[in-house]
Amino acid sequence: MYIVPEREIATLMTRDAAFDAVEKVFAAMAAQDAYNFPVIREAIGHEDALYGFKGGFDKAGLTLGLKAGGYWPHNLEKRGEINHQSTVFLFDPDTGKAKAMVGGNLLTALRTAAASSVSIKHLARKDAKVLGMIGAGHQATFQLRAALETGTFEKVIGWNYHPDMLPNIEKVAGEAGVPFEAVALEGMTQADVIISITSAFAPSLMAAHVSAGTHIACMGTDTKGKQEVEAALLARATVFTDEVAQSISIGEAQHAIADGLIKESDVAQLGAVINGTHAGRTGDDEITLFDGTGVGLQDLAVAASVVDLAIEKGIAIEVDF
Ligand code: NAD
Repeated sequence: MYIVPEREIATLMTRDAAFDAVEKVFAAMAAQDAYNFPVIREAIGHEDALYGFKGGFDKAGLTLGLKAGGYWPHNLEKRGEINHQSTVFLFDPDTGKAKAMVGGNLLTALRTAAASSVSIKHLARKDAKVLGMIGAGHQATFQLRAALETGTFEKVIGWNYHPDMLPNIEKVAGEAGVPFEAVALEGMTQADVIISITSAFAPSLMAAHVSAGTHIACMGTDTKGKQEVEAALLARATVFTDEVAQSISIGEAQHAIADGLIKESDVAQLGAVINGTHAGRTGDDEITLFDGTGVGLQDLAVAASVVDLAIEKGIAIEVDF
């Protein structure tokens, strides 16, 4: 089997490779060629840690495995290690033998950023120029970098609950040579695309803050109770997701469903749009919303891609196992 350590991921994995891997696996999920296994998430009663497994099998890409990891809230202050820790394990679907062990920390950020970029490619208006960012934490910088790589945006506007964090995303916009402006939430009406990536449990972005024709990628809500946007916005928008079951239970759609504003059948898989089996945007005035909840198959897809790159470049550590 091969080992690809966390320290190698940054030089190996490109945003293009992450984008392709995520786009393909979303398509495979919608074609029912790939499915996610039930997620396990446990408070282990040690170090206040939340630990779990996200697994799946992609029959189209022949990727089988799981991501194991979670959140250790005291890592940084006690040990200087980052609080989110994860490792991806891949298995040979023909034999069940272990195939690879891959550092999953950076890959998680890259695959999450790739998901919103895939949604922008397939759902945003082609003439989108202004990108709105809600959130300025760790993931927000990856989201912004990946979105700016699409090359379509000429201006970034940003709002964050903690305004002192805004320089984090201003720096990324500056590195890409794109002007940045901090705005009030009301200023988000300028945006053609909005990416929301916060850990909020109450909505910031209201339906009135969004103009007709905007595409919104809601990337922060991945747990019951979290919420980034007003439920009424989902009723006003055409809603897409990575996985419907997650969207309506732990994603942004959980609130609009609970309030009776939308039904499960109103939420479509982005993969079906990629496959051409479901309509995407149907007009320039339509608001589209991607509820990106994060699935294990995304992790496996980018891990498989990085293992191929590591073998190709002679960086993968081969062990007799
Ligand atoms: P972070 O701690 O670095 O940043 C948190 C962000 O949320 C900051 O911008 C902060 O200002 C904002 N925030 C905090 N409290 C808020 C509030 N009450 N109202 C509005 N904003 C508030 O976290 P991160 O690593 O950037 O992760 C952000 C979110 O993304 C988390 O909820 C995380 O679980 C989620 N996430 C989702 C996926 C996915 O696949 N969908 C993947 C990874 C992380």
